[in-house]
Amino acid sequence: MIPFLSLKDITAKYAEEIHEAVNRVVDSGWYLQGSENERFEQHYADYIGTKYCVGCANGLDALILIYRAYIELGILHRGDEVIVPANTYIASIMAIRENGLKAVLVEPDEQTLELDENKIEHAITSRTKSILLVHLYGRCAYTEKIAQLCQKYNLLLVEDNAQAHGCYYGKQRTGSIGDAAGHSFYPGKNLGAFGDGGAVTTGNKDLADCVRALANYGSQKKYVFKYHGRNSRLDELQAAVLDVKLRHLDEDNRLRQQVAKMYYDGINNPSITLPIRLDDKNNVYHLFPIFSNQRDALQKYLSDNGVQTLIHYPIPPHKQECYKEWNVLDFPITENLSKTELSLPISQVITSQQVEQVIDLLNKFEKLPNTTC
Ligand SMILES: *Cc1c(COP(=O)(O)O)cnc(C)c1O
Repeated sequence: MIPFLSLKDITAKYAEEIHEAVNRVVDSGWYLQGSENERFEQHYADYIGTKYCVGCANGLDALILIYRAYIELGILHRGDEVIVPANTYIASIMAIRENGLKAVLVEPDEQTLELDENKIEHAITSRTKSILLVHLYGRCAYTEKIAQLCQKYNLLLVEDNAQAHGCYYGKQRTGSIGDAAGHSFYPGKNLGAFGDGGAVTTGNKDLADCVRALANYGSQKKYVFKYHGRNSRLDELQAAVLDVKLRHLDEDNRLRQQVAKMYYDGINNPSITLPIRLDDKNNVYHLFPIFSNQRDALQKYLSDNGVQTLIHYPIPPHKQECYKEWNVLDFPITENLSKTELSLPISQVITSQQVEQVIDLLNKFEKLPNTTC
């Protein structure tokens, strides 16, 4: 069987270093807010290219904390509008709404799968204060035009970098382009922990200080509470593990890019569409999405032949039960992507042989006539 992602194999690759790090933390007797967290925050800030990094409990919290801090600092106000891609993972939207801000969904571009720069301006109103730009699938979503719109309308640019650790825009890493960025270290992400983890990166000291306080019960000084905070911290074990994996991240992303190259060069079934190919610098291939009008049949065929795939994502946010008031809305591009998308196995541990096998199966897949099932 070719698994979608083998976390076991990824961990095994760095077993020695990871065991050393885990043992060090266990033996230290210090498990929260210590030197491991401090070291990882410094290393991750250096890696991303921002002055500040604040560890937190998960990627959703990272985004919640950023918007919450902007409200606490008086820069955003409840009811302000935030533009967000309609095809994002639901966490991006939850982070906006959790703060009493209004999420305004905008369609992606069909070719790039990222927020459509040409549809943003139409969605801007006098209450629009921010864009939450999601580098979905590991692809850089930032563009010159988005930069211009942020400047023209004085919008805060927040990056959701949960799927794009290590990706570049020009000479800058994603996560260092906007005013602030949220990162997730969910195990399956390009940089993944042994459980939940997240971080905020920013060049803004006031924001970093506020996020750090909010993540620690709203406290900057022990037992003195400045804000209505929450408890959202990155623990020492996760920080130690992440610090090991961060050292290998660029190399791991390069291996993903090699897999992607094989897919791009090898897949030639006319019934399968691949997203527009970006320069490797601009795509760290968190996922490798392909598109087919016979997606469900294709998924079953691959599964019958021992290849595990996933769908990102089968139900768009506006069609979810938790957002009933949005269910009547039409976002045809997003809806079509959700019906045709299939994510192929990709990681730093999948072998060339396995990738060839997947390509071979895809090229042998016969398009079914629309009338039969
Ligand atoms: C994974 C993910 C998140 C949330 O991260 P968690 O650590 O799972 O909370 C947010 N946005 C996007 C785009 C993601 O893929």
